[in-house]
Amino acid sequence: MPGYEIIGQEEQFQLNEIFNKGNGVLFRHGFDNIRNNSYKVQDFEKAFAKYFKSNFTLAVSSGTAALRVALAALQIGKNDEVITQSFTFVATVESIIEAGAKPICTEIDDTLNMDPEDLLLKITDKTKAVIVVHMLGNPARMREIKNICDKKNIYLIEDTAWGCGGMLENKYLGTWGDIGTYSFDFAKTITTGEGGMLIFKEEKIFNKAAAWHDHGHENNPKLPRWEDSRSSSGFNYRMSELQGAVGLAQLSKLDYIISSHRMNKKKIWDEIKSINAIDLRSMPEGSNESAEALIFFVENSEIAKSCRDELLINGVGTKILPEAITWHFAAKWDHMKELSESHNNKLYKQFPNSSELLSRSVSIPINIKMNKSIPIKIKNAILKAVN
Ligand SMILES: *Cc1c(COP(=O)(O)O)cnc(C)c1O
Repeated sequence: MPGYEIIGQEEQFQLNEIFNKGNGVLFRHGFDNIRNNSYKVQDFEKAFAKYFKSNFTLAVSSGTAALRVALAALQIGKNDEVITQSFTFVATVESIIEAGAKPICTEIDDTLNMDPEDLLLKITDKTKAVIVVHMLGNPARMREIKNICDKKNIYLIEDTAWGCGGMLENKYLGTWGDIGTYSFDFAKTITTGEGGMLIFKEEKIFNKAAAWHDHGHENNPKLPRWEDSRSSSGFNYRMSELQGAVGLAQLSKLDYIISSHRMNKKKIWDEIKSINAIDLRSMPEGSNESAEALIFFVENSEIAKSCRDELLINGVGTKILPEAITWHFAAKWDHMKELSESHNNKLYKQFPNSSELLSRSVSIPINIKMNKSIPIKIKNAILKAVN
């Protein structure tokens, strides 16, 4: 699991630099005569761009903000429909509602991500964008989904809140679509406490996003900030220097985090793969996931629940599945009036395939630091549950 496990001296060093070198300037813009060339948010954006082999990155205040900024940059709003998947975090749908667009959710398939066939069925003349989510680090079927979006001339956004650093066909998750968004909240692969990032394919869209997340400021180099040029309104979703500093240190640990995840996931899988009663969730060909979780299917929801109970008794938690879908499954979101209305006010009936899959899924969190005894404990717990 996440970068919070290894927060330490490197993050502290970066934070101290803001004071030791940069005279305590905490704002990403201006104050050039005081800050002694210390620009943590800018440096974080540049380092992120280099890592992900992209030219255009924008740091923002959260992963939710990143989604909202993405929709604004694509000028999506009233009368537009945006399609995402039924299994995601509420934030994905909230960003669509905040943009004033109509949120539509698809079924998931055995990757536990967007089902491309259901996506095709749900596209209408009003569909302007698709937000595909790489839930719990598992790549979605991007080849198929990108083809559909290209053919139908629909923007593709990747919610890569999970999956930062994961790949599909040697291409980083978040760089397949027009925009990739990332979250650095405290439970995510790398963390800045709160924070987010966007990656863009096109400079024009990046420019729109950069202005919109900063009240419309175009950061015209020829003008002082208080006389800055502008061509639209916007909002404030800026990242602060404190977050940027922590992000720089965390990003330098991303390779280590992911290789630890992959190694620990493999240790667990090697221990349990001989159990016939479990099936690993599917992954598109060419996946090299960030390994945030190990997810498998069992025969029915009773067995899934008993897996959870046995795992807990053995001191191992589960992660979201099977029990904690309250915040992660659209069928449960009657509290979101706009979402409910766009699904005939019958959300609970809308996603039978997703519901069936999720009810018999078990998700085991993968940590950077793992006690040697964990794989065998997991094996014993599962064996007890399935027999
Ligand atoms: C965490 C998460 C977000 C939101 O990120 P925050 O930084 O917490 O705002 C968005 N989408 C998904 C799928 C997430 O898991």
